[in-house]
Amino acid sequence: MTRVDGAFVKLIDDMFVTMYDAPGVGLAAPQIGVQQRFFVFDYDDEPGVIINPTIVESRGEAEFTEGCLSVPGLHWEIIRPAEMHVTGFDLDGRELNLELDDFACRVFQHEIDHLDGVLLVEHLTKEQLDEARVALMDLRMNNAGPLPEPEVGSSRLRLR
Ligand SMILES: [Zn+2]
Repeated sequence: MTRVDGAFVKLIDDMFVTMYDAPGVGLAAPQIGVQQRFFVFDYDDEPGVIINPTIVESRGEAEFTEGCLSVPGLHWEIIRPAEMHVTGFDLDGRELNLELDDFACRVFQHEIDHLDGVLLVEHLTKEQLDEARVALMDLRMNNAGPLPEPEVGSSRLRLR
């Protein structure tokens, strides 16, 4: 269970800083090495936190270009459910009951994947995976080190 105290609020603050710096629209606790089920998000200038999110139901199909702060600079067209009903809790312990569609639905699915230990690459088609391998190898050869920081607005590393 996630306990909301001063240290937790500080952690949340730090996560927002990391997310906005990237820049990204969501950041899940496991991405910063915290093995708890919550994530921060801000996809429409309304920052939020959801604790213990559960997907109650999902419907339809939608395709979005998706990237991940954990694999900076790479993006793929990925098909996922178009709408879903999610429950969880906010920082004050109030129950959240959210009907999500469009971009919000995509952000939540991506972040819930992180909580479940599912990587973005697990959603790629075989062709996308082959392209990803080549792109990742190029990155390593050019840098001989860790992956570079995300580059805002750069199209150099985009696969599509
Ligand atoms: Zn991610």
